[in-house]
Amino acid sequence: MPKYKLLIAAAVAARLLPGQGLAPGNETIRKEELEADLHFLASDAMRGRLTDTPEYFLAAKFIESRFRRMGLRAIGPDGALLQRFHLTWSEMGEGNRLRVSYGPALSTDATLLDEFMPLFFSPGASSRAGMVFAGFGIEAPSLKWSDLNGDVRGRILLVLEGEPKPDDPKSIFDGVVTSIHSDPLRKALRAQAHGAMGILFVNARQQEAGVNPFPRDARNYWPEKPPHLKRFALTSVADRLRIPAASISAALAQQMLGERKLADLLNEAEKEGGGFTPVPLDAEAELTTSVQRRVVDDHNVVAGIEGSDATLKEEAVIVTAHYDHNGTDGALLYAGADDNGSGTVALLEIAEAYALAAQQGARPKRSVIFVALGSEERCCGPLLGAAAWVENPWWPLEKTVAVLNMDMLGRSEEVPENGGSRFRGLPVQTAAENANAVNVIGTSFSPDLRRATQAANRPIDLLLRFRYDNNPSNLLRRSDQWVFLNNSVPALWFHTGLHPDYHTVNDRPERIDYRKVERVARLVHQLSWELAQAEKRPAMLKPRPIPPPD
Ligand SMILES: [Zn+2]
Repeated sequence: MPKYKLLIAAAVAARLLPGQGLAPGNETIRKEELEADLHFLASDAMRGRLTDTPEYFLAAKFIESRFRRMGLRAIGPDGALLQRFHLTWSEMGEGNRLRVSYGPALSTDATLLDEFMPLFFSPGASSRAGMVFAGFGIEAPSLKWSDLNGDVRGRILLVLEGEPKPDDPKSIFDGVVTSIHSDPLRKALRAQAHGAMGILFVNARQQEAGVNPFPRDARNYWPEKPPHLKRFALTSVADRLRIPAASISAALAQQMLGERKLADLLNEAEKEGGGFTPVPLDAEAELTTSVQRRVVDDHNVVAGIEGSDATLKEEAVIVTAHYDHNGTDGALLYAGADDNGSGTVALLEIAEAYALAAQQGARPKRSVIFVALGSEERCCGPLLGAAAWVENPWWPLEKTVAVLNMDMLGRSEEVPENGGSRFRGLPVQTAAENANAVNVIGTSFSPDLRRATQAANRPIDLLLRFRYDNNPSNLLRRSDQWVFLNNSVPALWFHTGLHPDYHTVNDRPERIDYRKVERVARLVHQLSWELAQAEKRPAMLKPRPIPPPD
């Protein structure tokens, strides 16, 4: 070995020494390396890493190549690091039709895009059946709630969009956070499982506002040309749906309800007490949905370090960050440096810290897995790369001790006065107030994880803000940890906060505070190591409690 290489090896070894309680390798996480990587991933050449573009695939290949260079272990089949999954998007076809009959003498054809539209995840399908109103169409056994306990077999259901009491901080449906149970594809699949022949959704709150936004919304939903940001569903989930699914205007829903008032039924459906009992309507529907489904490839990138303890190595701590962003729109380039180039490069540095420590003989007791998740940004459905993982986990969920998710680590939270709806629910604050702060979201579901985070932060000394678990900003569900929480895996989101450049062309690599990314990455590394070493794994509170609002 030439002398300079020996010197480098000695220097690396020195930095690996666990000084002041730091985990082995912690000090190899360096802002210069984070900066170099981010200037590639968030460069103009990467064109904003949009799902189903060559640059997005290149980003996955870059991460894969880095993982291989580090000598990390493949945990996928046949040594794979790329976990392939598929997404479905749709174009509207010809022949969408909704005919409603009120007795033998009266039937009307609803007008496409003015009164009804197929939903993008609907299969091409046709049904004719009597109608039933079934509240929100929610079935949530863990909350002891069902709107489907009744006569729904062989019927076409009319259900309300959303969930009961979305603005009530004490709602069992995750307080003011929109819960998983409001997901329309999930509702359609539950209805199908109960033998329903089709499902129609209506936004009853639309009617309260006294305007009819349906025609405009429907034309935005199905624009003439495929939009630059398409709607996707996980193919493996969408393919299970065989019944037609459509959305209708509040006015048409009111016609179907006859004497009953939609607003009264909304009130009724929101009442506590375990759900709404479906009521048959004096209407029959004939629904045909015609959509052309298109399928695209997508990938999560996965590698790990095998634990050193013969028993505990069967359990894993998973560290995640999504690597996709919003691409380009004409001349506009959304580089996504903070969102989420910053988390992606932190993931690489953390993985490298483990690899370097392992080369020196220091491995954690439990296994640690690194997952760069795809298509977090893409609507609609819960965070697609993470959803693909829980559909087909390369590590069993019940042997997953915790998930530490990083999404936006490189700025300081800044909420301007009159910042508009994008800052809904967040207190006005300046970047200077948050210069040393990081939000840690999700701790109210696992006090053990909260304590572990505080302990890991001792040598790092960031200001930890445990907040936004029950906030109208919906932040709890706005990154990949949410999917794991919904699957009873303790999970946290490390997030330095929204700011005026969020999701704009100004989210660029030269605006990132690399020292801050370094510190948050060190915290996540330290915490992952301590969780991998700990005697006991963190518990998840069940049933999931509703944290106080903030
Ligand atoms: Zn993000």
